[in-house]
Amino acid sequence: MDGNIDKTILTEEVIQARVRELGAEVSADYAGRQPLLVGVLRGAILFIADLVRAMDGPLEIDFMAVSSYGSTTRSSGVVRILKDLDQDIRERDVLIVEDILDTGLTLNYLIKNLRTRQPRSIEVCALLVKKGKQKVRLTPKYQGFEIPDEFVVGYGLDLNERYRNLSYVATLKEGVLQTELP
Ligand code: 5GP
Repeated sequence: MDGNIDKTILTEEVIQARVRELGAEVSADYAGRQPLLVGVLRGAILFIADLVRAMDGPLEIDFMAVSSYGSTTRSSGVVRILKDLDQDIRERDVLIVEDILDTGLTLNYLIKNLRTRQPRSIEVCALLVKKGKQKVRLTPKYQGFEIPDEFVVGYGLDLNERYRNLSYVATLKEGVLQTELP
């Protein structure tokens, strides 16, 4: 294990079991429709990859990239679209797949933006939700886990692009955040 990792918050087994449950729940809710799952790059890549494999029925996948944190750990509230969807979402059932909901500013912006394109429906599936941190009223229809307000890495989540490949979610040792940030 990497020397900078402090404690495991969610093990691989726990994550996989919950993602399977979410997949079944989402599939049942969208039965008879063909939802478009929108993965928010890059943090949601592992989550969406596992989620779609836990789903059955027809679905499509697209991605968006937005800038939120840059290389710092604070949300600026300024969101820029770095990569937009490849397809039109008019009259589509859109499910945004996000890694983590912290202040909620990023998702709030994204939902508002996508709503202007007139999808039939738009919902959110967030793997992690930081307890009590949301600055905007936003409750994802689907959520994996509520976690304490600590900076976490793994299962898609990074610190300066590292740790995304861990199959578990963990905190970093004290001091790592300070030394790793520019
Ligand atoms: P929000 O706009 O909700 O404050 O931030 C959302 C984005 O910030 C997430 O998609 C994620 O990229 C990043 N983020 C928020 N909390 C954490 C965290 O604890 N660890 C990591 N690695 N990224 C985080």
